Amino acid sequence: MKIAVLGGGVAGTLTANYLASRLREEIRKKEVQITLISEREKLLYEPGLLYLIFNRFEEKDILRDLKIILDPGVKTVFKRAEKIDLENRELNLGNEKLSYDYLVIATGSRIVPEEIPGLTATGHWFYNLDGAVRLRKEIARFKEGKVVVSVMGVPHKCPVAPIEVTFLLHDFFKIHGIRKSSEIVYTYPINRVFLMENVSELIQSLFMEKGIETRTFFNPIEVDAERKEIVTLEGEREKFDLLISIPPHKGAKVIIDSEISDDGWIPTDKYTLRVKGYDDTFAIGDATDLPVSKAGSVAHFQAEVVAENLSAEIKGLPPTARYFGKAMCFIETSFDEATYIWFDYETPPRFVKPNKFTHWMKIAYNRMFWLTARGVL
Ligand SMILES: Cc1cc2nc3c(=O)[nH]c(=O)nc-3n(C[C@H](O)[C@H](O)[C@H](O)COP(=O)(O)OP(=O)(O)OC[C@H]3O[C@@H](n4cnc5c(N)ncnc54)[C@H](O)[C@@H]3O)c2cc1C
Repeated sequence: MKIAVLGGGVAGTLTANYLASRLREEIRKKEVQITLISEREKLLYEPGLLYLIFNRFEEKDILRDLKIILDPGVKTVFKRAEKIDLENRELNLGNEKLSYDYLVIATGSRIVPEEIPGLTATGHWFYNLDGAVRLRKEIARFKEGKVVVSVMGVPHKCPVAPIEVTFLLHDFFKIHGIRKSSEIVYTYPINRVFLMENVSELIQSLFMEKGIETRTFFNPIEVDAERKEIVTLEGEREKFDLLISIPPHKGAKVIIDSEISDDGWIPTDKYTLRVKGYDDTFAIGDATDLPVSKAGSVAHFQAEVVAENLSAEIKGLPPTARYFGKAMCFIETSFDEATYIWFDYETPPRFVKPNKFTHWMKIAYNRMFWLTARGVL
């Protein structure tokens, strides 16, 4: 039995590790083979990018070789999949083809800053490593003026990261004695500062306390690089000295090229996580079209469900696990306080008052993540 896991992000890595642990005996007897296909040889801990831009983490803290993180029972192929043939159960890896009996697609999401004219010329972002490294320099250089943190489209990875970066900028500028000579503006596409209403109220009140301005119903369509202004669909123009954007996102190119969907989000059953119409194929993590946050915690909970059901099926047991939309996110509200929200398909988000203990839980988790990725925690 050949299981292919496509994508070496947190979703693919966790699924492969959980499967290897559940199917240890079958792998030993050579009845099952698990192969993880990844275009990158390293696993990036993306939440660490938030700390990297403030120089609190270095690259070495947030990158690990996949070979070290993956269970020895998982075979690796470091290649980009050009096409997925769901009908014939085959991956096209350029100069070779890989057939499978079961496939788990964990190809994630990607930012597409090029879709907003002018953004790549003058904007910054921290949603990938290169962008975060460039932004780290800009933040260190910034002494006075206006910073605009602008969410330029939904869905995007980690719904709370734009809020966190705004809070941390406020603290960073205070620590460096430049808060009074700087202005911080946060923009969001809908009529409030966050998708979920009760969380939005909390964030809005904290923004007001910290003197952070907000613009809502703010949908950028262009960045005027010469005048350093964001131009919106609503006809507004917002000046900036430093633009920290959350660029629009899309699913992986291979999903679009394989005609699985037009925008790269995979049509997925919200409970079983099977790709609609294909019982032998699962989709998890950022890659799905599910109404849940694109978050590492979601990928983690989904990986458990897929590994449990897939291993049960292979062992001839009933695959009874279901994913109910469970999600959990820490929100850093400063460099020493945080809150967290948790919710699922049925339960609206709940949160605690920002406090120091939750912040230290997040800091501890940042270090423990590598154990999670190995499937230990
Ligand atoms: C700044 C930032 C902060 C965040 N903070 C948090 C947080 O605090 N908490 C939280 O829960 N989440 C957070 N997230 C979100 C979290 O990092 C993502 O949701 C998570 O990494 C998604 O994992 P994934 O494996 O689904 O996708 P990805 O991490 O995108 O991995 C997909 C992998 O598939 C590979 N791939 C794609 N196409 C192909 C192909 N054709 N062939 C081979 N390989 C391919 C990619 O190279 C990549 O390695 C944050 C994200 C960012 C950017």
